[in-house]
Amino acid sequence: MDIFDKLKILADSAKYDASCSSSGSDRKNTNNGIGNGHVSGICHSWGADGRCISLLKILFTNACMYDCKYCINRCSNSVPRATFTPREVADLTIHFYKRNYIEGLFLSSAVIKSPDYTMERLVETASILRNEYHFNGYIHCKTIPGCSQELIDKLGVLVDRMSINIELPSNDSLKLLAPQKEKDGILKPMTYISNTLKLNKMNKSKYKKKFVPAGQTTQLMVGATPETDLKILKLSEGMYKSLKLKRVYYSAYVSINNDKNLPTLESLLF
Ligand code: SF4
Repeated sequence: MDIFDKLKILADSAKYDASCSSSGSDRKNTNNGIGNGHVSGICHSWGADGRCISLLKILFTNACMYDCKYCINRCSNSVPRATFTPREVADLTIHFYKRNYIEGLFLSSAVIKSPDYTMERLVETASILRNEYHFNGYIHCKTIPGCSQELIDKLGVLVDRMSINIELPSNDSLKLLAPQKEKDGILKPMTYISNTLKLNKMNKSKYKKKFVPAGQTTQLMVGATPETDLKILKLSEGMYKSLKLKRVYYSAYVSINNDKNLPTLESLLF
């Protein structure tokens, strides 16, 4: 499969992720590198299919080992699968940047082999961009739930923004629709990033301002489970207060898969 076939599959697979804005980071062009980031935000718009069109918005892989009931990329679905190499993602980003197609990269991923294995690929991608190609443009990268703290540290000093999607607004819903994910695997990295950012503010972190300068975000899916809007908003408020999130995004549940635990399209419409 060539890189453009992969791009077709992995750009399409990323379209369900809403958390893709690009403001809040001021990164200067240094050492005659390529690009920069502006604190006022990179201008971007949304395509009709929900894709952000000024960031290269892709998955590293859609060959997921998990089987979240609501997800197009779950392992039990029969869909075309593809996986980039870190260098392919870095090369695409640089080539698209030089052609003025994009102003940055939004990189998410399904989980391949293990959370740490997947995170290592994301770290390698960001490292090639920053350290080899001297790319100073905006990078937003997903953190893989359940990955090690050491890998969060490595990725955090390379990218502008990190995000971990909570997706489901309660532990019961998580157990029902994403049984291979654990609440702790999601909340622990979010708390760790938040604590490191707090230490940064007090000038007590070893990373100073280099660690995730545009902060962290998350995404909650609305409509797949019975939680009320009030419960979802209270959860968001709690996260804004305790984790100092830059933003909570809400994605509307899209009925893609058939599963007895999911609402049917008819029940959503009528
Ligand atoms: S881990 Fe992510 S990509 Fe994999 S099935 Fe769950 S939601 Fe989809």
